[in-house]
Amino acid sequence: MLSEASPDKILAKDRLTKKDLAHLLSLNDKQGMQQLFDKAYAIKKKYVGTTVYFRGLIELSNICEKNCYYCGIRKENRKVERYMMSEEEILQAANEAWQWGYGSVVLQAGEISNSRYTSFIENLIHKIKELSNGELGITLSLGEQVENTYKRWYAAGAHRYLLRIETSDRKLYALLHPESHNYDSRVECLQILGDIGYYVGTGVMIGLPGQTVERLADDIMFFKRIDADMIGMGPYIPHHDTPLACCLGNFDDIKQDQFELALRMIAATRIFLRDVNIASTTALQALDDSGRELGLKAGANIIMPNITDTIYRRGYQLYDNKPCLDENASMCRACLEGRILSIGETIGYNKPGDSPHYDRKRTRVRK
Ligand code: SAM
Ligand code: SF4
Repeated sequence: MLSEASPDKILAKDRLTKKDLAHLLSLNDKQGMQQLFDKAYAIKKKYVGTTVYFRGLIELSNICEKNCYYCGIRKENRKVERYMMSEEEILQAANEAWQWGYGSVVLQAGEISNSRYTSFIENLIHKIKELSNGELGITLSLGEQVENTYKRWYAAGAHRYLLRIETSDRKLYALLHPESHNYDSRVECLQILGDIGYYVGTGVMIGLPGQTVERLADDIMFFKRIDADMIGMGPYIPHHDTPLACCLGNFDDIKQDQFELALRMIAATRIFLRDVNIASTTALQALDDSGRELGLKAGANIIMPNITDTIYRRGYQLYDNKPCLDENASMCRACLEGRILSIGETIGYNKPGDSPHYDRKRTRVRK
């Protein structure tokens, strides 16, 4: 049986094949999983170190023009009360992040594409740079946009972009989205972002209905193929008001399996890609109270503390039981600091924390 074989031989290899990755992803005994996590941690230590970088997450709007079947803020979920933070509120949150020594902020929202919004974001980027003397890094996670929009936001000072491919399997992608959402367009956006010079983040949801370990192994190979600098991925968690919610049966019955699969995916990705940044996401914490620390122990090195004002948190529920809905930014920070120090890692305050992978790429381009 695949899952019962010892992982020793695979973990001793220099280069892993798709079959090896699938094998590691299917390990389900405690000892085998620990071996996997230990190896991933050793590789993380060697290539990116044990400093955790914070990205202050600002969920600036839950308005979305799209209808992904898994997402709680999809356009057709009429139960959601929509919001858009004001410029002042966003700048206040960014300023707080800067004062606290966070190296950067992530501006995330549902997907909106129009010229007024493009200018609003462009202006915000200028102002965030201004208030932080150009020091605060800016990551955007604002979905698919046309090339010119990406270029304008890059020119304004945003240098990272996070756009998950969600799954690299085009057939599965088609099952998770309405026909109007196009797999090739998403891949093209990732290519454009890289060509413009962005530090490119991508990722997938782990444990989707219909996903297999072979497909997840393909996802890891996809990350390599598109030369990603950062991986942001987490477990898929159903939202009760979405079309996909019923597909996994009673989620409580599989919660632990889903969590462990997500940790194995982080570890296998670290082993395969080595020098990229990998986020330990909030969705991990939704499944296990120590989820984000365990993500760090499995090979992740980035955490995105939520710094959105608590009045908006309930409006940005992508999945059920999202944690920290009532904790304000300073409570989140104190709680996270304690958790990170408790596992013997440090926090990279006042540092940009780009991945060594990205730094090397930029050096090559300059030569
Ligand atoms: N709208 C932008 C986009 O889709 O790229 C950015 C915001 S979107 C809410 C950020 C991510 O949330 C998506 O890429 C997706 O992977 C994740 N997400 C949505 N619904 C989820 C769910 N039910 N479980 C776990 N992650 C989910
Ligand atoms: Fe909109 Fe992003 Fe949710 Fe899809 S995942 S419905 S694009 S917010």
